[in-house]
Amino acid sequence: MSKSELKFSRKKTIGQILPEQSDYKDIPADFDQNMQLSIENGFFVFTMMPSLRCSLNCPHCYLSLEQRRNSPIMSVDQLEIACKKVDEYYSGKTHLKRKVIVFYWYGGEPTDMGLDYMLDAFNRIEKIFTEEKGYYVRHDILTSLIKIDEAWFDIFRTWGRGHFQTSFDGLMRGKGYMRLWDKRVREATAKGLSVSTISVVNNELMEDGPEAVLDYLCELEVDEASFLPFMLNEQNVGNKYEKYAPPMSGYSDFMIKLNTHWYKLKSEGKKVPYIGQMSYVISRKGMPPAANIPGQTMFLLPEGDFVLPDYRDGYLEYMKPFGNILEQTFEEILTSKSRKEYIRKQWTRNRNTECVTCTHKNNCIMEFWKPNREGDDCFGAKKYVDWLINNESKLNSLSHDQPLMF
Ligand code: SF4
Repeated sequence: MSKSELKFSRKKTIGQILPEQSDYKDIPADFDQNMQLSIENGFFVFTMMPSLRCSLNCPHCYLSLEQRRNSPIMSVDQLEIACKKVDEYYSGKTHLKRKVIVFYWYGGEPTDMGLDYMLDAFNRIEKIFTEEKGYYVRHDILTSLIKIDEAWFDIFRTWGRGHFQTSFDGLMRGKGYMRLWDKRVREATAKGLSVSTISVVNNELMEDGPEAVLDYLCELEVDEASFLPFMLNEQNVGNKYEKYAPPMSGYSDFMIKLNTHWYKLKSEGKKVPYIGQMSYVISRKGMPPAANIPGQTMFLLPEGDFVLPDYRDGYLEYMKPFGNILEQTFEEILTSKSRKEYIRKQWTRNRNTECVTCTHKNNCIMEFWKPNREGDDCFGAKKYVDWLINNESKLNSLSHDQPLMF
């Protein structure tokens, strides 16, 4: 059965409605996603936030309690309209023979939408973005893992191509959370699933120490681990940010020690997760300026707005809207005044004097450009990036079995 023939029926069991992994084709070998830097060029990381709902209360979250508990959920019919508009846009770009769309299910907690919603959405997406039209589609799912049942492992095995991503923030989310999370990760790897973690570096992880954190992820057999700085946002401003967020200099020190330990473990022949930031920084060295701006992604919110994180009052994060896909065409949103301004701000590195003159401006970890904080390492983690570049050949010599790409 081909993917396009798959039908979702509530009468069938999960096993009968899931595709086989062999149905999927890998990303074409000659498609270098590191060089496809914009939606307009045919590479779209379509960040899916059709629901912001989540039953947890994590200190770093950018969502309000009201949004997490009661915000509207985009219907699958509306989601289909949004996807058809993206397809309409690409249909008009006949010079783009191949388009790669990565559906990054983010949220809120995507699994809270339920299996019926997700399977319906997957099937409709597959019908719109077909191979015949030149699309390559991939689904990446980020989950807290806390509320899911066994059936989700089948979703990760099939639609997720044997893989999923999960948040790991140590004791910042509480002991009860960690106990359950640990159990679920072990269950997943025992079933042969590949697990990636994404962590916000916080004071609880700092206290555990980078060596212990990496040892723990090795023990869990995690394949890839990413570590992001803890950002100030409208929800955590006040006591949560002050309590949990280390300065960027602390982040850089943590990452240097973590990578040093990574090198030691790799040298000893141990299986170690590859570190997302190391791969990102090294893979982008010497690449064009567009390699370090978010030109290839936008987030879709429940009411149809396409947005990306932006900053005001210094480095306070909020979501900047570019347009509404239920009311406008995709082209109108991509070419909106708001998105043009945003992309210009990324290209000019927010006009930060220290950034425009910096040799790392094309490969540091400043994900969305903003002012730096005085008296601290920059948000691009210059100290850590310097260390990575100084140790590049040593690190590369042990990375041959792991892709140095984001
Ligand atoms: S490393 Fe720091 S100073 Fe250099 S470009 Fe990135 S954010 Fe700016």
